[in-house]
Amino acid sequence: MWLTEKVTPTFEVRLRLKKRLYRARSSYQRIEVVETFDFGRVLLLDGLIQLSTKDQHLYHGALADRGFAFAPHARRVLIIGGGDGGLLTAVLRRSEVELVRLVEIDEEVIACSKRFFPQLARGFKDPRAEIVIEDGAAYVRRAQGEQFDLIMVDAPDPVGEGAKLFAATFYRNCAQLLAPKGVLAAQSESPYFYPQISRRVRRAFTRIFPRVEQETVIVPSYPGGSIGFTFGLGR
Ligand code: SAM
Repeated sequence: MWLTEKVTPTFEVRLRLKKRLYRARSSYQRIEVVETFDFGRVLLLDGLIQLSTKDQHLYHGALADRGFAFAPHARRVLIIGGGDGGLLTAVLRRSEVELVRLVEIDEEVIACSKRFFPQLARGFKDPRAEIVIEDGAAYVRRAQGEQFDLIMVDAPDPVGEGAKLFAATFYRNCAQLLAPKGVLAAQSESPYFYPQISRRVRRAFTRIFPRVEQETVIVPSYPGGSIGFTFGLGR
C-alpha cells in the first residue's frame, strides 16, 4: 500500500504505508493519518504532508528556537495555524512564557492530533494555552489593540484557507499586533523547492520590518527535504 503526494505536476513523493489510521473530511479539508515505514505516523491535509512523528521536532524545535533567539524577552506568544499542537508544545517548554494564544481555523485538526499525536498535543492541556477557533487572517484583523512579543505563523502550504496566511496584508496586520521589539516568524516554504514563495514572503517582510532574516532547516519528510522560515524583527 502506497501513498503519493503530488507536489507539482512533475514531482511526486511516495511513501509505503503500514496502515491507514484515519481519514475524514472537515468543513475545510481532508484530514488523514497514516503509519509509514520511514517516518512513523504522518498527518496529511488535502493529501499534503504536514508532519511526521520521526522529524516533527526538527520543524517545531527550529521554529521555536529561532523565534526565541530573535525575541529572548518573549512572554506573550501568538501562533496562527499549528492545530497539531507541536509548535504550541515546543513553545510552552519555556517556563518564562506566560501565554500562548493559538488561532486555528479547523477544530477537527486539533481533535485528530489529540487522538493520534498525543505527544504533540500535550500543550493543549497547559493552563497558559488559549485556543481560538477562527480564520487566522480574520483574527489578526479584528484583534487590533492586543500585543504579543512573538507571533509565529505555522501555516500549511499556500493553498485553500492556508493561502491567506501568506498574504502581505496578513503579515502587516500581524506586525500591528507586535509589542516593541516584537518578532514575526513565518513558515515560508523551501527556498530550493519553492523559491518564488520564499522570495515573495521576504519581499513582504522587507516592506514592514527594518531587519529580515531567512533560515532553512532540514526536515526529511517534506518535499525536497527542507523548509524555510522568515523572521521580521520590529523596532
Ligand atoms: N508544519 C506544517 C507544515 O509546514 O506543513 C503545518 C502545520 S499545521 C497542521 C497548519 C494548520 O494551519 C492546519 O491545522 C490548518 O487547518 C491551519 N490553517 C490553514 N489555514 C488557516 C487559516 N486561514 N487560519 C488559521 N489556521 C489555518
